[in-house]
Amino acid sequence: MTHHHSNSLPPGSVIGILGGGQLGRMLALAAARLGFVTHIYTPEAGSPAAQVAAKTVIGNYDDVEALKTFARQVDVITYEFENVPTQTAKTVAIFAPIHPPIKALETAQDRLTEKDFISRQAEVPVAPYKEVNNGYDAKRALKSLNEKVVIKTRRMGYDGKGQRIVETDAEAIAAYSELGDVACVAEKFIPFTREVSIIAARNTQGEIVTYPLIENEHRNHILHRSVCPAPNDDGQAQKHATKILEALDYVGVLAVEFFQLSNGDLLVNEIAPRVHNSGHWTQDAGCTDQFEMHIRAITGWPLGNSMPIHKTEMTNLLGEDLLEWAELAADPNVKIHLYGKTEVRAGRKMGHVNRILKD
Ligand code: AMP
Repeated sequence: MTHHHSNSLPPGSVIGILGGGQLGRMLALAAARLGFVTHIYTPEAGSPAAQVAAKTVIGNYDDVEALKTFARQVDVITYEFENVPTQTAKTVAIFAPIHPPIKALETAQDRLTEKDFISRQAEVPVAPYKEVNNGYDAKRALKSLNEKVVIKTRRMGYDGKGQRIVETDAEAIAAYSELGDVACVAEKFIPFTREVSIIAARNTQGEIVTYPLIENEHRNHILHRSVCPAPNDDGQAQKHATKILEALDYVGVLAVEFFQLSNGDLLVNEIAPRVHNSGHWTQDAGCTDQFEMHIRAITGWPLGNSMPIHKTEMTNLLGEDLLEWAELAADPNVKIHLYGKTEVRAGRKMGHVNRILKD
């Protein structure tokens, strides 16, 4: 050992995770491999993460007493979804450090704050956008952004929920009220050539690593497939992600989703202050996977290797795709990851498979 990591948490330390979904489950599994103990905080009984963690505290995100009980028993806190209320994060942060920073949570929760921060503070390009607070704003945004815009609610939108593509004044006004008369942004419709993303990490010592570029295919606004390394990786995405990590003084894994234009330029669509569905390929590609990377980052460990040995394709198993498990299990080139969800619903993320591709 040449380095002594005095700020690192040793094996046996307790990691608290806000959220009980599949990302929490895979974080807990990765933490266990490094000898850490995981506690989950979630409103839901029998959650995917609770099934594999040492302990779970069940409570709503505004239950201050339950949050304190949870936070007193852990050495570091992280979260597995970006809609954890910032007040919840502030309540637990009194008892143990929370990573990624609450600032990242606030930024990612509001599409306007996010676009302002990325374009002005981090100085990374985003699609042209306007704030929209009424039908008249929506109409004006359509005019100033030219021909076709996507109106999105500022908060609580995901997987294409809370957004409408509009091309006429009447559509703009109708879309604003259909979205619930709430604060929105209008974004220029981008005729992208492809959608790509990047997974990057920064640890408590400020060390940064980035993975290669990922190419993503969405179906019905939900991620269907990711391939990494993507062709034509010019390093642009890694540079953008590094600027965002530094601007946020970030600790943990960050995902950045981009639209790529025909001239090759990348525009940020959104950031996720957490491990991300488009990074699941890392589990079977021969490098440190994103879940272990996140655990290493928040516990102050050295970050490990982000270079895959194999080109890998990840495909999501949604709803009844789960029924194909036996067939998939029979394919020796496929690695199956299932989330332990008992209720099968159309479009629900039930698992994913990673396939090693021949180069
Ligand atoms: P989002 O929820 O913002 O990630 O959007 C979901 C999906 O809608 C994206 O992955 C794109 O396929 C599409 N989309 C969103 N915004 C735009 C845009 N400004 N131009 C073109 N397509 C978009």
